[in-house]
Amino acid sequence: MTNPLLVQASLPHFSEIKPEHVKPAVVQAIAKCKETIADVLASNQIFTWGNLVIPIDEVDDTLGKLWSPVSHMNSVVNNDELRDAYESCLPLLSEYGTFVGQHQSLYEAYQQLADSNEYHILNVAQKKVIDNALRDFTLSGIALSGDDKKRYGEIATRLSELSSKFSNNVMDATQAFTVNISNESELSGLPESAQEAAKILAKEKELSGWLFTLDYPSYLPVMMYCDNRALREQMYSAFCTRASEQGPNAGEFDNSETMAEILKLRHELASLLDFDNYSEKSIATKMAGNTEEVLSFLENLAIKSKTQGQKEFAELTAFAQTLSADNNELQAWDLPYYAEKLKQERYSISDEALRPYFPEDKIVKGLFEVVRRLFGLTITLREGVDTWHKDVKFYDVFDADNNQRGSFYLDLYARENKRGGAWMDDCKGRRELANGEVQLPVAYLTCNFNQPIGDKPALFTHNEVVTLFHEFGHGIHHMLTQINASSVAGINGVPWDAVELPSQFLENWCWQPEALAFMSGHFETGEPLPKEMLDKMLAAKNFQSAMQMLRQIEFSIFDFQMHLNYEEKASSEKQENYIQQILNKVRQQYSVTTAPEFNRFQHGFSHIFGGGYAAGYYSYKWAEVLSADAFSRFEDEGIFNEEVGRDFLTNILEKGGSQEPSELFSAFRGRTPEIDALLRHSGIAV
Ligand SMILES: [Zn+2]
Repeated sequence: MTNPLLVQASLPHFSEIKPEHVKPAVVQAIAKCKETIADVLASNQIFTWGNLVIPIDEVDDTLGKLWSPVSHMNSVVNNDELRDAYESCLPLLSEYGTFVGQHQSLYEAYQQLADSNEYHILNVAQKKVIDNALRDFTLSGIALSGDDKKRYGEIATRLSELSSKFSNNVMDATQAFTVNISNESELSGLPESAQEAAKILAKEKELSGWLFTLDYPSYLPVMMYCDNRALREQMYSAFCTRASEQGPNAGEFDNSETMAEILKLRHELASLLDFDNYSEKSIATKMAGNTEEVLSFLENLAIKSKTQGQKEFAELTAFAQTLSADNNELQAWDLPYYAEKLKQERYSISDEALRPYFPEDKIVKGLFEVVRRLFGLTITLREGVDTWHKDVKFYDVFDADNNQRGSFYLDLYARENKRGGAWMDDCKGRRELANGEVQLPVAYLTCNFNQPIGDKPALFTHNEVVTLFHEFGHGIHHMLTQINASSVAGINGVPWDAVELPSQFLENWCWQPEALAFMSGHFETGEPLPKEMLDKMLAAKNFQSAMQMLRQIEFSIFDFQMHLNYEEKASSEKQENYIQQILNKVRQQYSVTTAPEFNRFQHGFSHIFGGGYAAGYYSYKWAEVLSADAFSRFEDEGIFNEEVGRDFLTNILEKGGSQEPSELFSAFRGRTPEIDALLRHSGIAV
């Protein structure tokens, strides 16, 4: 029997991949990588781009290409066997990462290449590959002595296990909780679409009535529309205590110890590398220059937003009091509900009223039309591609000269055993092969929108439309790159605080009347979004924007300070409460609302404990400043101005990680970034 993961193919054979294939394939590929590194080092005296970088890149790419579908399937068609197989490989991959990162002779080979005459005639991207490699060698402990080096490896392995454990707890806690409602009267206020979806969920579980879960498409409508305060409280309490010692599943999937250990080990890792703290280590690979620059950037935004945020909250409170007869104090589970009502009163427009105007087909075609006008792209559906689920579609992307640039899988709907949220990931990246041919990039675009119900097409909220554009922005960064040195092609090698630039940038077109004219259309009549609704939607855009800004800043400062101020020598009791205390302090200082005592938001904060955003969550805001400022050039010169589009394509999208983002930004904008455009777009007075 052949292992589909070990077959060289242009695209993965998803339908053939079974859990038992995973570990043998990974073991074999890693062995091949190690063997190649040994060969390269043994058979050369003088190291060149051709005899050092290319052959190792080749085998690493093979490993990446077989791991990518496994990791992807673990996220989108998860089951126990696959999860076990996936997890059994994490220590191997981490061990290989450490093996490379601490390989003394490999490091010396790169060092020799950096000091050689050849280095000076390499192109910008190739030089950047070597510079980054040397930087990463240092960050992965190459300069450490024997015992410290060993300790470094242990920490890295343990951290990768812990972050996986964290994510699993969040996923399990999310799935462990459901509410089955049998009486329709309990659902008053809830839109029909949400009720229908809840009915289908109940049926799938062979239950009667309506079933609600903590997945966003099920959870959010309840919080926003359901008049039933007790149900809102029940759902909110379950949601914001997931994977903690609080709430309905208290202690069952508790992440507390995992989080404490993660922080402790991150700090130890940073100390081993001679950083004062983990935030400092995080900054070493980012666009931001130092930790003070990050904090003052966030504080500056907070100061500019605070007064307006307080005003927005006071308005919400006053409004809620006029509606609520029992004079109950406004609680966390009331905020989205009254906010939606206030939004209604002011703009009389709801997500639900807009939904019929955003059917899937119109939106997807509209998105393709936007990137055709901006960058000259043509996107075509390819039938018959093997995928992991029948709802997944596959597309090819061609540029203005009709050259293929890349392809992507589009997986739009929420379903069981699929991780929540939306993201772009790479199936494979652009790189020049040894024979001179170029491997084209392939992306996964994953969302969790409502699937079509009955004969109706899938109808999206405007928010979901924005999400799709966002992920597609990442997608074109990955797919349009013209850099052939793989580790700085596309999103590779782009600092995390600049990587959200193309994604947040593309969101802007979801708010442009000229674009909405062709990407909206009532699913029954085809009528485009009426002018009156459009005007209201645009007017509502910045509703409570200062409160939202402050919320993101609160998460960012919490994450950054938690890693910055960690004290290694604090008593264990102090360390136990450390995370909650930092969060409380940050909330006190920056939040305009009060979270309930039992709120354990941090236990589900996967970005920083389960993903790669540790001491880097601020990146979203940082990149938002870049994207708003970049978009303001389109505002000045025309939102479909081809020349500006081409400038963005050639200066930013195509360049990937081959140059510093500050250089690329200046090349496009003609100056350094300014925060004014973001504040203006958010309706916050500068
Ligand atoms: Zn993003």
